[in-house]
Parts: sequence; C-alpha cells; structure tokens
Amino acid sequence: MRSTLEGLAHDGTARPLLVALDFDGTLAPLQDDPSLSRMLPDAVAPLRTLVEAPGVSLALVSGRALHDLHALAEGPVGTYLIGSHGAERARVMRHGLDRDVVQLTDEQADRLATLGARAAEIARGRDGVWVESKPTAVVVHTRLAEHDDARDAESKALALGDELGSGVLHGKDVVEISVLRASKGEALRALRDELGARVVVYAGDDVTDEHAFAALTEHDVTIKVGAGDTVARLRAADPHELVDALVALAAALPT
Ligand SMILES: [Mg+2]
Repeated sequence: MRSTLEGLAHDGTARPLLVALDFDGTLAPLQDDPSLSRMLPDAVAPLRTLVEAPGVSLALVSGRALHDLHALAEGPVGTYLIGSHGAERARVMRHGLDRDVVQLTDEQADRLATLGARAAEIARGRDGVWVESKPTAVVVHTRLAEHDDARDAESKALALGDELGSGVLHGKDVVEISVLRASKGEALRALRDELGARVVVYAGDDVTDEHAFAALTEHDVTIKVGAGDTVARLRAADPHELVDALVALAAALPT
C-alpha cells in the first residue's frame, strides 16, 4: 500500500492526481462520541504537502454534515470537502468555505421534517439512541446503545427509510435516511470529472465507502482501512498505517 502510493508520487503520468480520503475511521480513529473525533496529528503535514503539490488535489469525504466536517477535519486551504455522503460540497478558502448550495424542493423539505419527527419517536425511550439532523437527511445513531436496543432502533429506522427516504445508508451504528439520492461514489466521480483527474486515490473504512471504491477504475488506488469485506484493492490495518503511507507519499513528491 505504502509502496503503491510512493510509486504514484514518482509517476508523472499520474497527473492530475486526486487524493480523496474519508475522515472518521480513516484519518481519525473512531470515537464513541463522534464530536471527539480528531485527525491524527501526523496527518496534518502530508495533507498540506498534497494540497500544495502541482497537479495534485485533495478531498476529504465524509458522511458528516459539511459544517461538521469542516470544523473537525481542519483541511488545509484548497481542500475539497464532500459532506453528507456526497449531498454537500465545498472548497476550503482562506476566509471560510466556498460552498455549493443544496436546494431542497418543498416536497423534500416536508419529507425531511416528517422524517425528523418519526426518527425522534424511534429514539424516544431508548438509551443511547439519538437523532442527528442534517441539511438533507436525518441520522439515527446507535453507537452508545445496548445491543438489543441498537438492533431494534436500526431495523425501525431502515423501515422508515424504505417508507419515506430517497436513499438509505446503513453504516457502523448509524442509519442515515436522505431525501436526496446521493452517494460518496457519485460525488467522487463528479469531482474527478471536473478536475480531469487521471488517477484517484481513495481510502475509507466503512460500508458507505464501498460506493466510492466501486465508482473507481482498475487504474485508481483503492484502500480499505481496517477489517471487513471490501472491493478495494489495498488495505491499511488502521488509521495509523494509512497516515504513515500518506507521509511517505508526501515525502516522495517532487519538490
Ligand atoms: Mg469512515
């Protein structure tokens, strides 16, 4: 995995190069309380090097709402941010975010409000189950719930998603019900096309990252972080191993 990334640094034909990275579980070790997630400190310098290197672009991709990703991930100026599993996008500028605005139709806005109320009913009375509101989705979180409560809440949330959602994502301890059809894969493909990237590197740890892996080609570099089935070609054991490889990639880039 590390030698593949170093090889890309020396390969002049692999430009423009887009390096796209999931945040939680990929650059930041998973936390029970998602508000405590922080990027590994060793990732800061290589990300800055990548964003400043000629012919190289950097994107951080997350299921988190965009404002949340921006606040936690501290992407350097020039970084593209893809939030809400692809439903929101922005670029980090010197004075804030240059943001693509999401516009919901009246029907979608009504459906989002109903989804929020129904999801709150699912969480009510279940310790450790909570609901997050995003601009285009509601998310039922079960990470802190007992096993039976978590499974029950997730199956009810999946049923609610079938009834009212346009897209449903079942990740680690989360069910996200969106009123838009979006995926990390579609968002990544759109960004690649805009940048004309010849090679894309994508690393992620969760089932939702499989959409992104599947959207790439055999000439791209796909890296699954952690255990579990995947369509990615390469694997990093954990965020530390991935960040070590990013350090090696950054160090190998021509200056
Ligand atoms: Mg993740």
